[in-house]
Amino acid sequence: MAIDIEKIRQDFPILKKEIYGKHLVYLDNAATTQKPRCVVDTIVNGYYDCNANIHRGVHFLSQQATEAHESARKTVQQFIHAQHAHEIIFTRGTTEAINLVAHSFGISQCNDGDEIIISQMEHHSNIVPWQLLQQIRNIRLRVLPFDKKGVLQIDQLENLINEKTKLIAIAHVSNTLGSINPVKQIVQIAHSHNIPVLVDGAQSTPHTPIDVQDLDVDFFAFSGHKIYGPTGIGVLYGKEKWLEAIPPYQGGGEMIQKVSFEKTTFNELPFKFEAGTPDYIGSTALATALNYVSEIGIDNIAHYEHELLQYATNKLSQIEGIRFIGESEHKSGLISFLVGNIHPYDMGTILDKLGIAVRTGHHCAEPVMKAFDIEGTVRASFALYNTTEEIDILAAGIERVAKMFRR
Ligand code: PMP
Repeated sequence: MAIDIEKIRQDFPILKKEIYGKHLVYLDNAATTQKPRCVVDTIVNGYYDCNANIHRGVHFLSQQATEAHESARKTVQQFIHAQHAHEIIFTRGTTEAINLVAHSFGISQCNDGDEIIISQMEHHSNIVPWQLLQQIRNIRLRVLPFDKKGVLQIDQLENLINEKTKLIAIAHVSNTLGSINPVKQIVQIAHSHNIPVLVDGAQSTPHTPIDVQDLDVDFFAFSGHKIYGPTGIGVLYGKEKWLEAIPPYQGGGEMIQKVSFEKTTFNELPFKFEAGTPDYIGSTALATALNYVSEIGIDNIAHYEHELLQYATNKLSQIEGIRFIGESEHKSGLISFLVGNIHPYDMGTILDKLGIAVRTGHHCAEPVMKAFDIEGTVRASFALYNTTEEIDILAAGIERVAKMFRR
């Protein structure tokens, strides 16, 4: 089925906005996506019509809100094809999900001298939580490198694994290079050594079908706001056996069974990991976003965005002096680039004046910048509502900036 792009664009009111008198061309989707009307309506209606704290209430509204939150959990379960709804933990986002695993898995499963493998292309949110763990357990971080094109050197993985390896934590898709990593293969290698795998799905979930059972991942994290949902809500999927084996991350209401000053017993899954009042409006709106994506079809979205990527790669490669950072054959819909000696901030600032929103800088992946010996890149990242016309506008904008600097 082809994507009805005009109809889709109607669903996103912000796309009609003008910036400095120019039509907005929003190409910063890897940072966050825009929201369709149905998602915003769910938030508004939630607060206007169905707002009461969940789980503990006997009254009508509380039960209705509880039902919406728990039904959202089932929507997420189906979206990523988890076996059980209680394997879905609502978090604030990918960052909090990874911190949860780093803390709870780290303190319960790692001893001094143990090792965790990450990759050279990780977002800071899959680096720093492990470094925080180092303050509690003296673990060693091992780093799987990528090559000049930004492709993970999987053949080196076996060399990094040893009897001290406790976990492999890896991005599904790099937010800077766009590389799609072979997580299924990584999981197979890891499991052949009985090592669990955490996948950071922040950049994959919005763009490609996710089946956590088929991938056989042990933990999987993603953020709502990158998949047309609200900010402040995200998901940690964990296999039941792991979520049972590791202790709670935060203490408070909801996550307990019985509390006394002498002893506290913890609630069952998933509540053991959801201390405090959860973002039940956010979870419900996330479910609306996932249903929206499912209605269009994540396969259709993947196909369409791949076409956009090919179109953009061809178009931009005609620009004199352009250099792509990240040239894997398996790429998601984003392009990181530099043109001549033009500083990414200059490029981004002038593009902004033309109404074009791109991201500039290190993209929270400083080790990637170090590997290429650069300070930053310009990044254009696509979503299902972008068009080839917008890519033409981007290309013309880059040309214009390049000309200014050539003079
Ligand atoms: N991992 C990757 C690969 C990302 O791109 C991002 C967001 N830029 C994150 C993790 C963190 O996501 P969040 O800020 O939503 O927690």
